[in-house]
Amino acid sequence: MTSPTRTPDTAVSPATTGPADLDARPQVRPAAEGWEQQRTSEGRPLLQFASPRVKQPPQHLADQTLEERQERLKELGLPAFRAKQLSTHYFQHWTTDPERMSDLPKAGREELVAAMFPPLLTEVRRLRTDDGNTIKFLWRLFDGALVESVLMRYPGRITLCVSSQAGCGMNCPFCATGQAGLTRNMSTAEIVDQVVAANRVIAAGELGGAGHAQQNSAERVTNIVFMGMGEPLANYKRVMAAVHRFVDPSPEGLGMSARNITVSTVGLVPAIRKLAEEELPVTFALSLHAPDDELRDELIPVNNRWKVDEAIDAAYDYFRKTGRRVSIEYALIKDMNDHAWRAALLAKKLNQRGRGWVHVNPIPLNPTPGSIWTSSEPEVQDEFVETLRAAGIPTTLRDTRGKEIDGACGQLAAAE
Ligand code: SF4
Repeated sequence: MTSPTRTPDTAVSPATTGPADLDARPQVRPAAEGWEQQRTSEGRPLLQFASPRVKQPPQHLADQTLEERQERLKELGLPAFRAKQLSTHYFQHWTTDPERMSDLPKAGREELVAAMFPPLLTEVRRLRTDDGNTIKFLWRLFDGALVESVLMRYPGRITLCVSSQAGCGMNCPFCATGQAGLTRNMSTAEIVDQVVAANRVIAAGELGGAGHAQQNSAERVTNIVFMGMGEPLANYKRVMAAVHRFVDPSPEGLGMSARNITVSTVGLVPAIRKLAEEELPVTFALSLHAPDDELRDELIPVNNRWKVDEAIDAAYDYFRKTGRRVSIEYALIKDMNDHAWRAALLAKKLNQRGRGWVHVNPIPLNPTPGSIWTSSEPEVQDEFVETLRAAGIPTTLRDTRGKEIDGACGQLAAAE
């Protein structure tokens, strides 16, 4: 097990704000605990951008646009209008059961369904919180790779946190997902099928919680966050196609609102710029976790490729192009990144670009005694939030729903 490394605060920028006693706190440096981060020959954490060339899952209806589905059906010698019928079953009724598709001729129905809906996700395990309003699913993909999604009921919305890659190549030292590196990119349909599967669970009344009394058959996932396994922007093409399936009107897709889809990234700058050019006003979230390159180089290894200022510039340009306010995610880690001077530096960097374009979400970690990856003290969290607010930055200390079942972001590690 890697031992926590504590060095004096002088290892980073000097304190500029906040009470002296807090600023005199130690500086804990990021380090992988209990596993070894893969490194390059120069000793830097290894980054994997390209997915290994491994077999992709069979083509599924959700991989295709409506026109592509119609083409496929023509190839199978069937009328194109069957594409809409099949799409309605999948995107509106969440079903791939031929028995329930009575509008299709009985002869050949099973073969057609098998061709258009090859099974993609096999449920391995389901964990639920005591109140039942959070469920974590572990899925096995066609090649044995394991991924997770987390379904959460909040007042007035139901959010699904989806995975976009099996494993992850970004090698963040705090993250269980990154430990084994990138297994492969998930296909568009594998991403979409997580949502359809969750809708099935909701329709069956299996998601409990506060809204249980109001449950009705129309309930479904209203919000999607790409904060499960993987770096979504490293699987850009398939993630974008999945976003299309989410927002395209029924029966082409699920007909969800783009603003309810959050695409997050640790800062793949060229891909952020590309995302800004898409005609898809999704919510964009930058997982920053540190405002200074010295710490962020270690905390988020991709920072060695694109620095804090480049990532914030790209986020600001996303706001300018789309008019959509950007979220900055900031996990508060005790004595590592939670110093008041860092809140002040973050506020300064955000305000330098402009006002009203960004919202900061500090996320308290789980208390993990004995680990360097543990939660900040409540008064430190408060000071961090207050420092940002005092500088005019809208800031919301986030709920870390799912922590009790290890479903909070950055904690997803698929293992049986
Ligand atoms: S925190 Fe996100 S980007 Fe970093 S290794 Fe984990 S899944 Fe990948």
